[in-house]
Amino acid sequence: MTHCDAPPPIPPPLQPRERPGLLSVVLPAFNEALNLVDLLPELCRALADQAKRLELLVIDDGSNDDTAWVVRSKIQQGLPVRLLRLSRNFGKEAALCAGLDAAEGEAVLIMDSDGQHPIATALQMLAEWRRGFDMVYGVQNGRRESQSWTRRGFTRLFYWLIHHGSRINMPPNAGDFRLLDRRVVLALRTLPERARYMKGLFAWVGFTTKAIEYVPHCREHGVSSYGLVQLLSFALVGLTAFTKMPLRLVSLLGLLVSVLSVVFGVWVVLEKTLFGQPVSGFTTLAASITFLAGVQLLCLGIIAEYLGRVFDEVKQRPLYVVQDLTPPLLTGKSTRN
Ligand code: UDP
Ligand code: MG
Repeated sequence: MTHCDAPPPIPPPLQPRERPGLLSVVLPAFNEALNLVDLLPELCRALADQAKRLELLVIDDGSNDDTAWVVRSKIQQGLPVRLLRLSRNFGKEAALCAGLDAAEGEAVLIMDSDGQHPIATALQMLAEWRRGFDMVYGVQNGRRESQSWTRRGFTRLFYWLIHHGSRINMPPNAGDFRLLDRRVVLALRTLPERARYMKGLFAWVGFTTKAIEYVPHCREHGVSSYGLVQLLSFALVGLTAFTKMPLRLVSLLGLLVSVLSVVFGVWVVLEKTLFGQPVSGFTTLAASITFLAGVQLLCLGIIAEYLGRVFDEVKQRPLYVVQDLTPPLLTGKSTRN
């Protein structure tokens, strides 16, 4: 039997768990007032008997609608909700970090505040956590068919680069909709980087994971914050944070172009000396200069992306700034900055 035929290693048996003492639900929200009005009571109803205690932690990521007002009114109505307001819009990744830093639950569920993540899937995730899985993540079903071929092409290239350029196994179509055991949350809190590409970080920390397929609901109110441009720049963050593969491709490209230019040079000299052909002039020269200038600028751009990432990391700025927390923490614990 060759090495390749070896059977896959048998995973260690799972340790079943009781229902959590405290279940935290982290809900990053940017202008989600209309969606939260219904989502918060629905979550309370569905999750009430899934844990001894429940906390719904809404991270208001600098909303300029009534998000904070709606959440405060739910707190006044006696719902187990906490509101963490950031001082401005820091983006979903930073809001998620703020939520994970403030969540105190034994299990932490991450969901969008726009109601696109089905509560039924969240219940399935809890069941898998109780079976012993440390991280249960949602995989969007049927997402590919609804995407254009350019977007599918970019997605495939992105995952190819991540897969071949890093040792982490990042499942395609998985997002931030997931349930984390407290151990996973503590591991995530130790990661110091500013470039919070959460999907990559979730994969990086490891633990026993389980995927659950789900079909996202449509957004009831408001519009998505992520268009193609945001997704592309997000992919760049992911690539520069998790793989040096583009830098290696740049080196390879440099090598290839150098070899080709030597071959071309030899061919031109032979053509002139052996066959007496005059060296063809301006067109060849102009084409090769513009081609090489393009290649060089592209390579410089790739290097600059990495340099920019280093620049962001060395500044060591906090990921987010907390404006206030309602109700304030009684344990005296402060959130990381
Ligand atoms: N979100 C956030 N900060 C932002 C943008 C979005 O907290 O700067 C939240 C948003 O309120 C929602 C979640 O992140 O709860 C997902 O955002 P969205 O629905 O716009 O993205 P999509 O579902 O289209 O990927
Ligand atoms: Mg959404």
